[in-house]
Amino acid sequence: MTSKIPDNQALTNCDIAIAGGGIVGVTLAAILKNSGLKVTIIEAKPLEVAAARTQAYAFSLLSSRIYEGIGVWQEIMPHIGKFKRIRLSDCDFSQVVKFETADLKTDYLGYVAQHNIVLTALQKYIADSPNIDWLCPGEVTDVVYQDDFAQVAVKVEGQERHLKAKLVIGADGARSYVRSLAKITTRGWKYWQSCVAFTIKHTAPSNDTAFERFWSTGPMGVLPLPGNRCQIVWTNPHERAQKLQALATKDFIQELEYYTQGSLGNIELVSDRVIFPVQLMQCDRYVKSRLALIGDAAHCCHPVGGQGLNLGIRDAATLAQILIKAHNQGQDIGSLPVLQEYETWRKQENLAILGFTDFLDRFFSNNWLPIVIIRRLGLWLMSNLTPLKIFALKLMTGLKGKTPQLAQNN
Ligand SMILES: Cc1cc2nc3c(=O)[nH]c(=O)nc-3n(C[C@H](O)[C@H](O)[C@H](O)COP(=O)(O)OP(=O)(O)OC[C@H]3O[C@@H](n4cnc5c(N)ncnc54)[C@H](O)[C@@H]3O)c2cc1C
Repeated sequence: MTSKIPDNQALTNCDIAIAGGGIVGVTLAAILKNSGLKVTIIEAKPLEVAAARTQAYAFSLLSSRIYEGIGVWQEIMPHIGKFKRIRLSDCDFSQVVKFETADLKTDYLGYVAQHNIVLTALQKYIADSPNIDWLCPGEVTDVVYQDDFAQVAVKVEGQERHLKAKLVIGADGARSYVRSLAKITTRGWKYWQSCVAFTIKHTAPSNDTAFERFWSTGPMGVLPLPGNRCQIVWTNPHERAQKLQALATKDFIQELEYYTQGSLGNIELVSDRVIFPVQLMQCDRYVKSRLALIGDAAHCCHPVGGQGLNLGIRDAATLAQILIKAHNQGQDIGSLPVLQEYETWRKQENLAILGFTDFLDRFFSNNWLPIVIIRRLGLWLMSNLTPLKIFALKLMTGLKGKTPQLAQNN
């Protein structure tokens, strides 16, 4: 095995080195706070820069229950959007699928949280923990896997530091360097679409409904935020997305009013329009000896239905549960049999959601008459067949599949 890490280098020891201090990586650390395991988080950006992203995400009921289980939800909840209704529709087709809280007997159907609110709450929660350290800003530059441990090289202020860990976690996002160093292959594709994401303020009297409206150019998600604002994620073919980004504000709002069908009243644009290319990706393996991948490092999906981050939060809760159990039973937390339990649990569940979002995007971003007829029949069935409606709602809110223990009592 070749190593860029010198053999004689003094190493700092920890049980778990988490590469990536985004929401998924820090969620894992937060769950491990009282586990007795020594954790080091390595984040390339300064803490406040990592937290400063303006993006807001749809947060599923399951994610909220995981955060309740950690004990950070009461910090997050007052500052985020909450929705009691979801409306699913196909262009201007009159049959709208209406999901209500009564369908699940819950107070809300989901939440919309800004990146900085969630990440800052998590950072604060672990700040006083004696068993969690940060190397920040610190960039993982190499990982060498040995039988009993992994050596992680980290660039901190131009200097190379080294860590010895029983387990390395790749939580370093879609372009994961840890994944490529481990030569873990991925499958998937880039979509013909990009998302234009932005925030608006509106004058519609109520702001407790999330809309997913499908247009032949791509889906448009409208997610309520506090202060009569909404985060909009509008998928379009690349060229059209670029044009929408470049439009004069007045023309852009006019276009938006047409596509939201006047449901939001007067609209004011209150953020930049940011473009994200969209991809579907799943790793062939989530684990190898001394390594586990979580969040976007392991999988990425189309933003339709707002699932991506929620999958990562579920990965973190599942992996933490398995690691804590292994640690309490005196097992080696970096051994392949322990890590494979995580892969077996999460890989199939994630694949189902990746497939579901891909199906939604392809089935609805389409003007071919037979498909239009079938999908409108599908919407009618979903509206009128309660079991089908509840199944779809449970899938979207994270209540299908195996629930991590942390979320079971909330
Ligand atoms: C337009 C759009 C809308 C979306 N909407 C939603 C939604 O509504 N709901 C939802 O659930 N999901 C949504 N998603 C998906 C969501 O954004 C991602 O799934 C989520 O941000 C992934 O989090 P992560 O922590 O895995 O990765 P990231 O947020 O990418 O974090 C990775 C971290 O690792 C750090 N890092 C990278 N390389 C290194 C290195 N070598 N060393 C140290 N640190 C490193 C980075 O600085 C970063 O802080 C959306 C995505 C897009 C594009």
